[in-house]
Amino acid sequence: MNISTVGIVGAGTMGNGIAQACAVSGIRVVMVDIAQAAVDKGLVTVGKGLDRLLQKDKISEQEKAAALGRIQGSTNYDELKAAQLVIEAATENHALKNKILAQLDGLLAPEVIIATNTSSISITQLAAVTQRPDRFVGMHFFNPVPMMALVEIIRGLQTSDATHDAVKDLAVRLGKSPITVKNSPGFVVNRILVPMINEAFFVLAEGVATPEDIDAGMRLGCNHPIGPLALADMIGLDVCLAVMEVYLEQFGDSKYRPCPLLREYVAAGHLGRKTGRGVYHY
Ligand code: NAD
Repeated sequence: MNISTVGIVGAGTMGNGIAQACAVSGIRVVMVDIAQAAVDKGLVTVGKGLDRLLQKDKISEQEKAAALGRIQGSTNYDELKAAQLVIEAATENHALKNKILAQLDGLLAPEVIIATNTSSISITQLAAVTQRPDRFVGMHFFNPVPMMALVEIIRGLQTSDATHDAVKDLAVRLGKSPITVKNSPGFVVNRILVPMINEAFFVLAEGVATPEDIDAGMRLGCNHPIGPLALADMIGLDVCLAVMEVYLEQFGDSKYRPCPLLREYVAAGHLGRKTGRGVYHY
């Protein structure tokens, strides 16, 4: 399938990052959000992202202008009809995504592929909202999209080989390194990452080592760029706890039980960088 125009629903953190990555790679973009202010904010963020590439000599002034020229922002879903692939990157809310996907399914030509950037909702369940579960797939980009090389391509139960191959090819055209994943809670990366962070809280709670030494251990011993506790502060301790609770519920396996100390921090409002205090003080 020749994908020359990508539709994006949601102009927030992920939507505008995906738009930038597409536009820089020569792909036209239609980016839709609910309010013009959200569309405008997304376009401004893309402009700033392109400025950073310009400063680093990764693109020229002309390439920046050409990339911006490839992105059309709109509040009108009808504009998405120009796309061969539409990526849903709206707020993480199951009911909202169901509504958006049903609307897209009714609007788009049958051959158009619909992808979702959800981090936590089942791809198979979201596909079932549409009449095209074979042309439905997960494309899980990482934040910040223009910098991060990985895209998890998630196959729902009914995702066809052709759909998988088309979005995998697109990810490669965006300069990404895709991996193929079967639909399962947390996919690959978060399934491994968040329980590792949870284990770091157990190690801390048992007094095995100080936060600084736990983080130094994982940085220096495993070559991780950041320690698990500092990373938890970046992600948000409330987000880490919520993810563990989803795994515990969905896998029904006690190995995913959240560390009581993680619960204590969240109960105290120590959520990480965003509240000025998590494991560390900011
Ligand atoms: P965000 O809050 O920055 O942006 C969401 C955007 O969706 C907002 O601009 C909002 O106005 C818009 N929106 C809401 N309802 C809409 C509708 N009906 N139609 C069109 N637009 C609508 O959120 P985000 O961080 O960009 O996350 C988007 C998706 O990407 C979520 O599913 C999230 O789980 C996933 N994700 C996020 C990250 C991350 O680190 N932020 C990483 C991977 C995946």
